[in-house]
Amino acid sequence: MKNPFEAQKQVAIKAVAKAASLCYQVQKELVGSGKGHVKKQDRSPVTVADYGSQAIICHMLKESFPNDIIVAEENSSLLRLSENQPLLNSTAHYLEQAMKKKINNEQVFDRIDLGTGQPADRFWTLDPIDGTKGFLRGNQYAVALGLIVNGNVELGLLACPNLSYSSPGTKISDDFYSGSLFVGVAGEGSSIMSLDGKQSRSLQVSGNHDPAEAHFIESFEPAHSDHQMLQDILHYLHNKVTSTRMDSQAKYGLLAGGSVDVYLRLPSTKNTHYSEKIWDHAAGAVIVEAAGGKVTDIHGKALDFSLGKELTANKGIVASHGAIHQKIIEAIQEQIL
Ligand code: AMP
Ligand code: MG
Repeated sequence: MKNPFEAQKQVAIKAVAKAASLCYQVQKELVGSGKGHVKKQDRSPVTVADYGSQAIICHMLKESFPNDIIVAEENSSLLRLSENQPLLNSTAHYLEQAMKKKINNEQVFDRIDLGTGQPADRFWTLDPIDGTKGFLRGNQYAVALGLIVNGNVELGLLACPNLSYSSPGTKISDDFYSGSLFVGVAGEGSSIMSLDGKQSRSLQVSGNHDPAEAHFIESFEPAHSDHQMLQDILHYLHNKVTSTRMDSQAKYGLLAGGSVDVYLRLPSTKNTHYSEKIWDHAAGAVIVEAAGGKVTDIHGKALDFSLGKELTANKGIVASHGAIHQKIIEAIQEQIL
């Protein structure tokens, strides 16, 4: 059967690729300068690129699908404060460059706020820059967009300008055009494209059945996943393979392509109340599942995307190529009991 969301997929690919090019430009020009970002109320950073990326994607989706709802991470409230005028000016500058059109301040606010919809039967969820901390360190980040219909993620896209297309898993810093765009369609399959759209191939998870030989990946930030617990799990599994730390949903992309075998997100014992956000997992989860993998929480429970902006019924994340999933869940249960 033909993918019922083919039209959405084509528009989403263009929107996410354009947003990725803005992010790439901002990372190159502003990061390290100390300019271009402020702290939100929860103390997490937000940048010119988060705002620019959200404005581009919301505008392009709404142009093609005016009635669609978009639930995105950011809104314009901080940008409206007079103290953040330089941030607003810079956002407008990068947006004008990307869209090749004059854009006034009101248009900047309006485009960003197209993403302030609420979850419904059918909606898009957007993280304009997933892994903002990685972005500010000059490391990995992803533009992440998912389409959720009746609680199921039907379509997911991850643009990763810093992830090499030709050797996934390696970082590129000076060649945007070998950056990667992952696309997953539920029930159909997943693919990776180079960000210029010139090359693409389908993705398949690895088939390494031995937990002792599995390559694990986790967050770079220790506050987002318990690094010590991963080491304890590796020890329990007699696994001596060096695990990888990386920011953003790029981790899901590497798993979908078979470069790694297991992605764990283990709630830190210091922060047991945290609920994962839908925009941090929707795109990645469908890309892994459509490539043949499995994604659950640390108890082996399916992720429930029907409960609003947070995965309140789930704790942490276990994503794997599938065949070793149950053994990994058992190893985690041994460590947390
Ligand atoms: P990563 O780059 O995989 O570490 O994930 C980045 C995402 O982690 C951000 O988009 C945040 O929404 C999310 N995040 C923030 N605080 C926490 C936390 N305490 N536990 C898990 N994830 C978090
Ligand atoms: Mg995020």
